[in-house]
Amino acid sequence: MDGSSASSQKVSAKYVVLSDTTLWYSYRDFPLLDFLPCAPTNTIPDFVYRLLRGPAPAALPDGRALYAPYSIRLLESALLQRYQEDQVVVPHQDYIENFIGSDTEIVAVGTMDPLGYGPLTMSFTTLFNNYYPYVRKEFERLILRITKCLKRKGNKKARILVGGPGVWEFTISPEELDRLGISFAFQGEADDIVCDLFGWLSEGVALEAHESLFPGFYTFDSNFHKSWITNKKFITRGAFSRQAPKLEQIPEIRRPSMKSLVEVMRGCGIGCDFCEVTLRPLRYYPPERVAREVEINVRLGGFRNAWLQTDEVFAYMHGKNFEPNQEALISLFKAVMSVRGVESTNPTHGRISIPSAYPDLIRNLSQIAKASPSNWIGIQVGIETGSDRLAKIHMPNKTLPLKIGQDGSWAEIVWRGTYVLNKYYWRPAFTVQVGQPGETPEDNWETVALINWLSNSSLDDGRPFEFTVTPMQNVPLGRLKSRNLTANMLDESQLAVYYASYRHLAKMASRNAMRDSGGNPLVRLATAAAISFGGKLMFQTIKTICKQRGIDVDKVNVHGLDRKLSQPRLLNPRLS
Ligand code: SF4
Repeated sequence: MDGSSASSQKVSAKYVVLSDTTLWYSYRDFPLLDFLPCAPTNTIPDFVYRLLRGPAPAALPDGRALYAPYSIRLLESALLQRYQEDQVVVPHQDYIENFIGSDTEIVAVGTMDPLGYGPLTMSFTTLFNNYYPYVRKEFERLILRITKCLKRKGNKKARILVGGPGVWEFTISPEELDRLGISFAFQGEADDIVCDLFGWLSEGVALEAHESLFPGFYTFDSNFHKSWITNKKFITRGAFSRQAPKLEQIPEIRRPSMKSLVEVMRGCGIGCDFCEVTLRPLRYYPPERVAREVEINVRLGGFRNAWLQTDEVFAYMHGKNFEPNQEALISLFKAVMSVRGVESTNPTHGRISIPSAYPDLIRNLSQIAKASPSNWIGIQVGIETGSDRLAKIHMPNKTLPLKIGQDGSWAEIVWRGTYVLNKYYWRPAFTVQVGQPGETPEDNWETVALINWLSNSSLDDGRPFEFTVTPMQNVPLGRLKSRNLTANMLDESQLAVYYASYRHLAKMASRNAMRDSGGNPLVRLATAAAISFGGKLMFQTIKTICKQRGIDVDKVNVHGLDRKLSQPRLLNPRLS
């Protein structure tokens, strides 16, 4: 059912919980299209954006959302532990106004990238010198809609509260909270304290009175030392109280999540020096719990897949020296696939060194997940760089249990991991970074060489390597604030990384657009054409910028190929 067939029932709720509208679409389930809202608004016409975004998600007959982002479902479940069903509503985006009334007390909005400061959005902003991405446009539009609705209903007491992983962006630009009319931004995990927090906010209790909370936000210096900054527009957990809920304090979802996403763990522990996730306490959900949530998605949401949220799946209950816990991973996959109705599953993120070192594990997981030429397992993998030097500086544990040098170069570890993943029908979506601290042009040329090598590789049966690669921009905070972001801030080597990445993406888009597009034949054709054309257009744009900067793209096209292709292809004889 789509939104248009829901009833016009209007029931004001005490707590209205929703998220940034960019998180409510399935983006035609095409690999990487979830990143579409990161694009600047002037690069993709609105009608193409809407076409690729796909149809509106479903609504229930009473105007509530049939599907909601997983984090919103968790928040809903946490609130329902104390409040009644009619007091807590997750509305469908078309019916938000139906549930906001004169007695609504809090409208909570979860967000990922409200101001467009995320690394992928920044990479587009830099290239196109346009500071108005769809993520920001949609977020602003939603908040404006809420503030207008509250005004229309004569509700002056309701608080607009934003939370979620994107809240750090407001710590860079706190003035945006006032400008948009947002009452508070909550930073951090809230599962165990959200009932109290909402109660206190409703009652107008001064938050300073509660030791567990701090009126301000935390931030990190370049060495990841945490400090607290006082600011009354922010709420976070106090420095001397528990920083995150215990596993048993995280509720299970009661209703279906978007794309059938369920969480399997929080935290990571690998310790890459650019990553905040690693600082969170590690919590692993038992397979039975994960299966129960998958069952909700299948039974109430009609899904046939399960998407497993983790920042590093191969760290799930990991062993010494970050060796994978094969037994635990197999139990997890088996538990998910044993839910009646589930036909496929894939984790959101994982590191490449594990497929590289443990091909048998990947083969076993593929068998359990029924991976095949028509059922690829997608996984996002941060390879970050092609440079041994940078990998050793910023992410020494990410290569474990393999070691750079002893087990080959970082590029070889990545190549072999890609080989194994593709062999067993896993398709990695790689990300690489430019602008890392201490980076030199030589490091970036190593990244170009790696991308070219992978792009020109194939399996022993002749299948070309299947992967995507997306460059991410590390923007210094000072520059972010001044918004002095243009392609001129990229040096030639950084632009070459963009060029090599988008050259490969264009190749993948034209190769796979038709095969991977969904919908009826006409929609499929239109989507495939838009994706293929978009890939080529993006590549041509970067090519033009490179040429304007005097970069010899013919040289970039072949950079590193002679060197890489002459190296041994496989490190593990069992694979040959
Ligand atoms: S492996 Fe991934 S999630 Fe873990 S610390 Fe490194 S970048 Fe962060």
